[in-house]
Amino acid sequence: MKILVVEDEKKVAGFIKRGLEEDAYQVTVTHDGAEGLKQALEGDYSLIILDVMLPKKDGLTVVRELREAGRQTPVLMLTAKAATEDVVSGLDAGSDDYLTKPFAFAELTARVRALLRRDGQDRGAEVRFADLRLDPVSHKVWRGKTEIELTAKEYGLLEYLIRNPNTVLSRAMIADHVWDYAFDSFTNIIDVYVNYLRKKVDKDFPVRLIHTVRGQGYVLREG
Ligand code: CA
Repeated sequence: MKILVVEDEKKVAGFIKRGLEEDAYQVTVTHDGAEGLKQALEGDYSLIILDVMLPKKDGLTVVRELREAGRQTPVLMLTAKAATEDVVSGLDAGSDDYLTKPFAFAELTARVRALLRRDGQDRGAEVRFADLRLDPVSHKVWRGKTEIELTAKEYGLLEYLIRNPNTVLSRAMIADHVWDYAFDSFTNIIDVYVNYLRKKVDKDFPVRLIHTVRGQGYVLREG
């Protein structure tokens, strides 16, 4: 499997490359955002590890442009700060996960494996609930005849809800299933994403499907 690493700190990039190569991945390193985006668009990578602070083009712009070009390659962002707003910006731009520097190599490889596993999951048939319909192959979503455009993370969250209808899902369960790990301050981000999803899935329709259960979490149900 091919992994692209976009990181301008040569020591960090070298450390990631050596470690991943020991795990038998093929690793390409680029040191600026412009070259990273070019590689990401041209190469057939299974995963991109992308630093946020980069010369020529920052990581958020790279992931946004990659998604705008229709590429769904999983992206693991490397951030220097754990500030919620930075994490939200990164996830909102279309990255799938993030890791705060400095990190232990074992943590990086755990995230890499989780992202690759999720991307390779068997995606199966269309899923329906009420007038909501989701195609796990194309990631398209409709309510009735209206197609709803979702980001990768919004889609992941909705897929988890629709596969567990009428079941209260706690923020910890959502963090674990949709983001692959538990993290306390992550609950803010889940609330932010549920709000994004509601604006798209519920706001313009007569029946609300996504409900908050106070002190417990969220549930997909009719009325
Ligand atoms: Ca950097």
